[in-house]
Amino acid sequence: MTTKPNIKSWRDLNIGGVIESGTSEHFKTGGWRSKVPIWQEKNCIQCMNCWAFCPDDAIKVKDGKRAEYDYEFCKGCGICAEECPKTTQAINAIKKEDPNIEIDSWDGAENPKFREKAAILMVSIKEAKEKFGIK
Ligand code: SF4
Ligand code: SF4
Repeated sequence: MTTKPNIKSWRDLNIGGVIESGTSEHFKTGGWRSKVPIWQEKNCIQCMNCWAFCPDDAIKVKDGKRAEYDYEFCKGCGICAEECPKTTQAINAIKKEDPNIEIDSWDGAENPKFREKAAILMVSIKEAKEKFGIK
């Protein structure tokens, strides 16, 4: 006779950390980018491949259509250019950083904005701990 393994259910597990969702909005990851994708609207066929594949939600959508890049969050990975149908030429080869694009980046703990955001995150964790009675 085989014995049933003693596997814990989710009810038996200790509660882990709970962090407020959407915190990535507080971090302007575009500051890491060394290259910039350029959208050619006149060539775009609105297939939305770029939007679907962008790992950082850095392509804006307006009225159900692809709109401009959100360069504050675009990391310049080039996936959008890779997924854009080659026949359209709607996304140029990744170019060098445009010095005219201002990026409000996360540049470490000395940045007052980072400290403010970190404080928000810590408050979220504290609230979650209190809510779930975690010491
Ligand atoms: S380069 Fe990468 S991060 Fe930037 S918009 Fe394209 S897919 Fe998104
Ligand atoms: S993948 Fe290219 S053609 Fe399709 S919506 Fe994006 S930019 Fe336009």
